[in-house]
Amino acid sequence: MATVAKLFETMEYGPAPESDAPALEWIRQHDNGRFGHFIGGRWVQPTDNQYFETINPATTAVLARVAQGSKADIDAAVAAAHAAAPVWAALPAHGRARYLYALAREVQRHSRLLAVLESLDNGKPIRETRDLDIPLVARHFYHHAGWAQLSGTEFPGYVPVGVVGQIIPWNFPLLMVAWKVAPALAAGNTVILKPAEFTPLTALCFAEIAQSAGLPAGVFNIVTGDGATGKFLVEHPDVQKIAFTGSTEVGRIMRKATAGSGKKLTLELGGKSPFIVFDDADLDSVVEGVVDAIWFNQGQVCCAGSRLLVQEGIADRLTQKLRARMEKLRVGSPLDKAVDMGAIVAPVQLERIRGLVEKGVEEGAKMWQPSWACPTEGYFYPPTLFTDVSPAATIAQVEIFGPVLVSMTFRTPKEAVELANNTPYGLAASVWSENINLALDVAPKLKAGVVWINSTNLFDAASGFGGYRESGFGREGGREGMYEYLKPEYESRNAEFGMRNDNVGVEKPDAAIPHSAIRIPQSDIPPIDRTYKLFIGGKQVRPDQGYSRKIVGPEGRVLGEVAEGNRKDVRNAVEAAHAAEGWGKGSGHTRAQILYFIAENLATRAAEFAARIGREEVDASIARLFTYAAWADKWDGAVHHTPIRGVTLAMNEPIGVLGIATPDDFPLLGFVSLVAPAVAVGNTVIVIPSETNPIAATEFYTVLDVRRTGRRHQRGHRGKRPAGESARRA
Ligand code: NAD
Ligand code: MN
Repeated sequence: MATVAKLFETMEYGPAPESDAPALEWIRQHDNGRFGHFIGGRWVQPTDNQYFETINPATTAVLARVAQGSKADIDAAVAAAHAAAPVWAALPAHGRARYLYALAREVQRHSRLLAVLESLDNGKPIRETRDLDIPLVARHFYHHAGWAQLSGTEFPGYVPVGVVGQIIPWNFPLLMVAWKVAPALAAGNTVILKPAEFTPLTALCFAEIAQSAGLPAGVFNIVTGDGATGKFLVEHPDVQKIAFTGSTEVGRIMRKATAGSGKKLTLELGGKSPFIVFDDADLDSVVEGVVDAIWFNQGQVCCAGSRLLVQEGIADRLTQKLRARMEKLRVGSPLDKAVDMGAIVAPVQLERIRGLVEKGVEEGAKMWQPSWACPTEGYFYPPTLFTDVSPAATIAQVEIFGPVLVSMTFRTPKEAVELANNTPYGLAASVWSENINLALDVAPKLKAGVVWINSTNLFDAASGFGGYRESGFGREGGREGMYEYLKPEYESRNAEFGMRNDNVGVEKPDAAIPHSAIRIPQSDIPPIDRTYKLFIGGKQVRPDQGYSRKIVGPEGRVLGEVAEGNRKDVRNAVEAAHAAEGWGKGSGHTRAQILYFIAENLATRAAEFAARIGREEVDASIARLFTYAAWADKWDGAVHHTPIRGVTLAMNEPIGVLGIATPDDFPLLGFVSLVAPAVAVGNTVIVIPSETNPIAATEFYTVLDVRRTGRRHQRGHRGKRPAGESARRA
């Protein structure tokens, strides 16, 4: 007799296929499966009549033919986006909100078509596209309909960047469309999108959606093609911003290509994210977490938890549990609703995974795969677990971008943090412990844009996503993501004065610029010939090579000599700045107190500084120090309202060690304006003062030296204010 227990034991999955017919019919209806570009609100054929095929990686069947974008196609799309830009930007906030809302509604109405199309083109399971990709796409447009509505009141003083080029990868094809397009349009920009060559179909379907939502022509354009097409877009002079998600290698190319062009850039690149399990974690939850971290989307996820770091005492037990779970994972047709993993996107990616796994075995790590075999038709790869991995092994350092997990052990929380941060990347991390104190202590120490606690791979439109270090920069989602598509309105005003806001341009603002009137170099006080050293690690030091440079005033008088720093001096300064990283770990309150105190000491010497640069600039510098002292304990993060269980905390962090070069104009105010905000939020800095007017800055270190003397003094005389007299020491 069949008991429930027996049924439970033998219960097999039957096939639960989702039909591909409506999606294939949609493709067929579109010029019998041939797609041109979407430019200026209509479909256009590629100028040189080149097409390429996109396939279904689960079957290798050709799905459609798609246009290969040429330079002329990119030119046409940029022209269309340009023509539409002023109209779109001038639309009242509510108008843009209506369009974004309409896009969200349209996505929902066609959600199943989009989910199936995505599975077909990418190979990812329908379970994921239906329950995650497409719902998040709709969520993204709804959320940004909100930002569009509020753009006038929530971002005062900001204007759209202009025409934006967006280049996206194949791992979340339509979700990346949403992450890119929604904030760009909400902020009032117009867009040229280049989808990935392996997965263009849902983006093209979205173009139809934009058409039926009545989006004005030219606001959103698509040019399909490969990296060559992307390159034309990146290099186009009339594009004001590039937003990219993809490999670190290509990100680096874009950084170089846009450097000095004045283009705004955001890069969301690769990762090798740690998944840290402490010995008090709930191991069954951990196992499901690992499944979501590395076998979700076949591991082709930039923030995949691909490095499992386990506390030593539980490592064997967790490995056993993981293997048991892997044995039960189901790899197969992406359209089967009962399948856990689908196909790898393309042969080239499959080869890359195979190659790296071979390398792992060669380098001595222990590889384990389940006993069952993958389908042989199509590009499949089984879930794979490596143990006995050395932290320096290739598979522990290089992003595999496949269903391959490498596991290592640690003993203490400190060692866990060190291992976790032992990567050039910094995209995401997750921490597993039932001890909230431990989790909240470890999380902020991880160099990662997102840290999940007892969870993984959670995304939402309200919460900024992005990286550190070689994982790129910029945030997508939330208020923070909106700023990536806006620029301060004053930049446009500066442009009217002929001032560039980027680091090129070279042309100097001429004497007619209003602020030159403020510089009053005249002085009644007799000049004091001073020699300035370098200021490193809180000490005045002689330059390594023992050369100084005369600084000559406007009337040709020698004002002093400054040290000529060389490579070694810079190295020493960078070392000192790193050694002082405790500055960023202290409280904002402490930093505020110190900045106020510096302002106060500058005030006691205001007359002396004013003699060189004028009273107005000195007073403005003191006020500015107060402003950033004020901000030091107010630069708060946010608690985002994300519709997931749990709390999303967005914390601001210092970047770390900054190099700052100060401008020639306003030698003191320029210096203070750049340095004070950087240190107020916890960075340490190496400053190179203006080459022609360095003395206000070098003199400033004597003000900082007072701080040191003053604080010692303060300790000695509790309750008394630090002695201003010591200023005279300099
Ligand atoms: P890729 O960076 O080469 O491609 C991403 C996008 O950039 C595609 O649309 C591509 O056409 C375009 N592109 C390529 N070269 C370009 C260039 N010189 N100028 C402008 N655009 C260019 O990534 P890939 O080849 O699809 O994948 C390679 C590796 O990148 C993967 O193995 C993985 O490690 C990583 N990757 C990361 C992500 C992520 O989300 N961070 C996504 C996909 C791939
Ligand atoms: Mn495809």
